[in-house]
Amino acid sequence: MPELPEVETTRRGIRAALRGHEITAFVLRDRRLRWPVSPGLARELPGQTVRDVRRRAKYLLIDLDRGTLIAHLGMSGSLRVLPADAPWAKHDHYGLTLDSGGCLRFNDPRRFGSLHWVQGDPLEHPLLAGLGPEPLGHDFDGAYLAARAKGRRVAVKQFLMDQRVVVGVGNIYASEALFRAGIHPRRAAGRVSLERFKRLAAAVRDVLGEAIREGGTTLRDYVSANGTPGYFRQKLFVYERAGQPCRRCRTPIRRLAQGQRSTYFCPACQT
Ligand SMILES: [Zn+2]
Repeated sequence: MPELPEVETTRRGIRAALRGHEITAFVLRDRRLRWPVSPGLARELPGQTVRDVRRRAKYLLIDLDRGTLIAHLGMSGSLRVLPADAPWAKHDHYGLTLDSGGCLRFNDPRRFGSLHWVQGDPLEHPLLAGLGPEPLGHDFDGAYLAARAKGRRVAVKQFLMDQRVVVGVGNIYASEALFRAGIHPRRAAGRVSLERFKRLAAAVRDVLGEAIREGGTTLRDYVSANGTPGYFRQKLFVYERAGQPCRRCRTPIRRLAQGQRSTYFCPACQT
């Protein structure tokens, strides 16, 4: 599943290709995504210019003259910039044609992605209102995490993956950040000290920042906006390394199930 670094990598790729360009056509080949895409976009979008491409959590916000497209990649989606005359591929569901001679195509075999058109502040859309702070933003730090965790018995890994607490820390990055901070994933959130939350917040920033610099972690279906895979995977400490020696202490990495997701951790380094 594309996580925050992959979405940010996509944003940077498509922003460079879209910003300042006018949309000349919107083609909808299959509107049956997670929510049905409005066929009216084929009339609404042409003639509008792309003002900017932003990101909030794992949503891409494509700002146009009269509103904003909110795009989500779902479980298996990718947005790619191609020549406008590129042939349509299987699972290509919509495309934006630009006056540059390029186009933006959305491919998604599992169709959990989405596309919404909003006028007014997109951050107030029901999909986005109520989300926690951005992990790379100024209001995310150890003190914030400690305040939100106070008295809570939920496991710290699930706490960290709760989008109301902080957005965009998916399974891979939660596992990796907890390893770097030396915190056992099952520890109750309310029993993590402020000092350790400070280390955890720094680890979240580091892990996400490194993954963005590497162009996103390549997992199964993911390709970035120009089709190149990310290289972060070779740097993972624990994720999908069950049974292999810890890169720090050589103890075999263990796997456990939490909330129907696999968590990977080092039983010696994480307490
Ligand atoms: Zn270890």
